[in-house]
Amino acid sequence: MLAAVLHEPQRIRIDELDPPEPAAGQVRVRVRAGGICGSDLSYYFKGKSGDFAVREPFILGHEAAGEIDCVGADVTGLVRGQRVAVNPGLACGTCRFCRMGMPNHCLDMRFMGSASTFPHSQGMFRQFIVVGATQCVPVPESLGFAQASMAEPLAVALHAVKQAGSLVGARVLLVGCGPVGCLLLAVARRAGAHRVVAVDLSGKALQVARSVGADETVNAADADQIARWSAQRGTFDVVIEASGSPAGLDTALRSVRAGGTVMQVGNLPAGQSPVAANLVMSKEIRYMGSFRFANEYAVATDEIASGRIDLSPLMTHSFSLAEANRAFEIAHDRSQSMKVHLSFD
Ligand SMILES: [Zn+2]
Ligand SMILES: [Zn+2]
Repeated sequence: MLAAVLHEPQRIRIDELDPPEPAAGQVRVRVRAGGICGSDLSYYFKGKSGDFAVREPFILGHEAAGEIDCVGADVTGLVRGQRVAVNPGLACGTCRFCRMGMPNHCLDMRFMGSASTFPHSQGMFRQFIVVGATQCVPVPESLGFAQASMAEPLAVALHAVKQAGSLVGARVLLVGCGPVGCLLLAVARRAGAHRVVAVDLSGKALQVARSVGADETVNAADADQIARWSAQRGTFDVVIEASGSPAGLDTALRSVRAGGTVMQVGNLPAGQSPVAANLVMSKEIRYMGSFRFANEYAVATDEIASGRIDLSPLMTHSFSLAEANRAFEIAHDRSQSMKVHLSFD
């Protein structure tokens, strides 16, 4: 089978590898589409994502959908040819956090396409993957593979909005309008937000944010506007930080009203981030975080399959596996792309 293997920063090679064999309880999935995520871009361009560095040849990708190719022993309910979205995370089910209902903090999590452990957990940008049967969520035949692969970032957005608490009637600021940011926006709308304002440095991103439901968009370079939001103990009930930049977090802490919530979803650079943290104290900010997702993956596939969340403005480009390097370059260029997919024939 062919696999897109990252050998060094900005150099993916298409290598021929042996297809993996499923063991009991596992299935082999023929991958048909995979989305490039911000963490994939960090690994590709910087050799690391947040605190996790690439230390061996590495197959990226954790957002994918495909068809069941063959099933191992003891697998029921999945048959060859069935169309599935694949949850990249497999929690152990027995550790302290799994027992607390927090599988995203599993002490033995195997999350595909992540360098958080060594050897790395290889990812999904290859023709065949072997996963646990429980990681596969059947989707309707009518749903495109690339759309189905959006279940992963949508699950991230659903988890974050759940963590933030009720948004009913809330004035919400979204900082950072990448693919996850725009999905957060769509989920916040469905969760009853009264008004959602979106901020980003990219005009293209702000345009997509408007098409998925932002009431108002503001360029992050507009320092006067951010100063106005900061005045009189802040403006927004809830600020969702989805830029993963210290500057974005600073905007969030300044713009939230006293007693409001800042939800950190963006993956900040490794190490410490200089921000005006004293505002957490002086404005009594509830500063919270959201990491990946817990049990929202199946709901995310349903939301997509039912058409309740319109993904079309987000899905801007698709490339073949052979064009992987080009796909990463385009995905990195926020002036022209939003979510870029690899498609596998
Ligand atoms: Zn992702
Ligand atoms: Zn566990």
